[in-house]
Amino acid sequence: MVKENLEKIRKTVPEGVVLVAVSKTKPVEDIQEAYEAGQRVFGENHALEMRDKHEVLPKDIDWHFIGHLQTNKIKYIIPFTRLIHSIDTFNLLQAVNKEAVKHDRVVDCLLQFHIAEEETKFGLSMEEAKDILNSEIFKAMNNVRICGVMGMATNTDDMVLVRKEFKHLKDIFTTLKSKYFADCEWFKEISMGMSHDYPIAIEEGATLVRVGSKIFGERNYNI
Ligand SMILES: *Cc1c(COP(=O)(O)O)cnc(C)c1O
Repeated sequence: MVKENLEKIRKTVPEGVVLVAVSKTKPVEDIQEAYEAGQRVFGENHALEMRDKHEVLPKDIDWHFIGHLQTNKIKYIIPFTRLIHSIDTFNLLQAVNKEAVKHDRVVDCLLQFHIAEEETKFGLSMEEAKDILNSEIFKAMNNVRICGVMGMATNTDDMVLVRKEFKHLKDIFTTLKSKYFADCEWFKEISMGMSHDYPIAIEEGATLVRVGSKIFGERNYNI
């Protein structure tokens, strides 16, 4: 089914938008099947799970970390991660930079913003982001590169609300781009949209969509 699902979804994702296949909780066999169907970009939200999968799967996979990252787990993923979508505190960004120095890497990161109504979702406010970007500590960091923004809309069937939240994230991107990253051609990513709302995210300017259950089936957290 994974191959069929992927083919169906690819038809709905225009050129220029990257489909991140969210394989969290799913076995390596499912990832292998997606890989054989041509998928190369995968997203995971647990550091150890991603490390373990990275060890056994093909080395040309583009691994994206999309979940809340605890600072004591950073070390497991820094050697190979292509993009961290979920920088939600200054402390985390500093810790990623520090670990990246050890591996002599520059790690691409997105700033995660709180755009949903739910209190539980992680993410920065605009004010917090500006505090980071204006700080001397940030300006002295050489091993992280901020490539754009990420957000999760409210988990609801109300697509009017979801669209409004995606527009808000796009506005945040535009503001940061003009104020801090005007000359940085790498600051271009807007990561938004999941299985149930990614078509709207694409309409609102997403460059990366993170789709899990529509590709791999519903997750079962009880096993
Ligand atoms: C799980 C997850 C997704 C994918 O969710 P689906 O609804 O299965 O597509 C996307 N983004 C993040 C941050 C996630 O944790």
